[in-house]
Amino acid sequence: MSETTHVPCPHCTARNDVSRDLLSNQPSCASCAQALFEGKPIELDTPRFDAIALRGDLPVLVHFWAAWSGTSLMLNKWPMMSASQKWEPRMRFAKVNGEAHPDLVKRYGIPLLPGLYTFHRGQVVQHVHERMTPISGQMLDRMIWYALNRL
Ligand SMILES: [Zn+2]
Repeated sequence: MSETTHVPCPHCTARNDVSRDLLSNQPSCASCAQALFEGKPIELDTPRFDAIALRGDLPVLVHFWAAWSGTSLMLNKWPMMSASQKWEPRMRFAKVNGEAHPDLVKRYGIPLLPGLYTFHRGQVVQHVHERMTPISGQMLDRMIWYALNRL
């Protein structure tokens, strides 16, 4: 089997086609040689969001956060980190500072930060934001469960 998974590099955004067998084997980027999975959420600005969250074959759960939100700070401190360590390379985790990147907040119509959005092959496949429901670590777990079992 020569099935590969497209994994954009979190450092240089280069396309990497990683063989399924090697995904769990700490693959590194063919272009910049840095690790494709680092056990922590990938920090994204707009160009990197377009290159990493919207491309590739793995679902990407993005935390749109705000520095004034206690929930955001709590999620960034531990649940997002532990989820990356636990679930990579089956899915990827990223964060966007929503105040620094209002263009992305506007693009996805996020009415109130924080928000958790899962992208798969360029599409939003699930999302919650603070106006719909309280964001929590439990919500994060539920979204991960959905991504792992339904996508
Ligand atoms: Zn790279």
